[in-house]
Amino acid sequence: MGNILVTGGKGMLAYAVKQVTKQEPYSKYNFVYVDIEDADLCDKAQSFDLFDKYKPDGVIHLAADVGGLFKNMAHGVEMHENNLLMNMHIMQSCKEYGVQKLVSCLSTCIFPEPSLSSHIKLPLDETMIHNGPPHPSNQGYAYAKRMIDVQSQYYRRQYNCNFISLAPTNIFGPNDNFSLESSHVIPALIRKCRAAMEEDSDFVVLGTGKPLRQFIYSLDLAQLFLWAFFHYDEAEPLILAPGEEYEISIGQVAQYIADAFGYKKQLVFDTSYSDGQYKRTVSNKKLMSRNPDFKFTPIDFAIKETVDWFKANYHAARL
Ligand code: GDP
Repeated sequence: MGNILVTGGKGMLAYAVKQVTKQEPYSKYNFVYVDIEDADLCDKAQSFDLFDKYKPDGVIHLAADVGGLFKNMAHGVEMHENNLLMNMHIMQSCKEYGVQKLVSCLSTCIFPEPSLSSHIKLPLDETMIHNGPPHPSNQGYAYAKRMIDVQSQYYRRQYNCNFISLAPTNIFGPNDNFSLESSHVIPALIRKCRAAMEEDSDFVVLGTGKPLRQFIYSLDLAQLFLWAFFHYDEAEPLILAPGEEYEISIGQVAQYIADAFGYKKQLVFDTSYSDGQYKRTVSNKKLMSRNPDFKFTPIDFAIKETVDWFKANYHAARL
């Protein structure tokens, strides 16, 4: 492997990939990080020009039109179309330029919503991805991302391309998107808790705080992506998640954030906001069977690291 192109190069996961690749065994490879300023992947010609310029041997495709529950509810059309276009152009470019390995990123939010399909039982696993409609709050994004799996498998069958796809649970970590409109829950709450500390105001969590999620720390996920890039070659997607026992409530996550800031008042829950999906428990059995020694960072420690990063980098953060 000579050049390994990383798309979405200014995002949270690419930031974590940069940290991990400073270390052995990855420091001998040449990772090239690109983002929309280098090429708008929704445009086929720009995507091909990018591949022509770097001639990558491998691609870790992290660019996506992505966001939290409230962005998904408001911008389903754009998220659907932008993701379809980007993914199609990346695969076409990889095939055209003879890329040896492509890793694409799915999400466990694209799996079937159990309450809409009586045959779907939790925990979800890799075999169920297309077996029922996703949760209505994020169907635009979910159906586009499901097509990554479909297209990757077609390219594999017809052109023998080594395209794999990985499905992480809710990611958080340093250099996340901290925008109040488009971010996911952890960065949104970190930003709100900092403001509540500064203004001596309430720390308001949206919804009931009862939904459950299996969060994954971006530094853990970057390690898993790199492991998969070099060692996972199966056609089927792989779920990347801590075990089912690590599923925790939004209320508990908010409390960890409050603790990390030293915020002492009681949390306020604004139940006029949507809870979105209640839970989407996934199994990590397949991951642990392929990578049995992997250890996940405890979530309270990872939240503290992320809060400390946000405090230290507030002026450079994506707000
Ligand atoms: P999801 O996991 O795909 O539903 O995406 P999110 O990370 O956006 O939301 C997860 C849960 O956190 C949902 O139940 C939200 O209602 C809840 N939540 C609580 N406060 C916030 C907030 O300030 N922003 C966001 N995005 N979600 C919040």
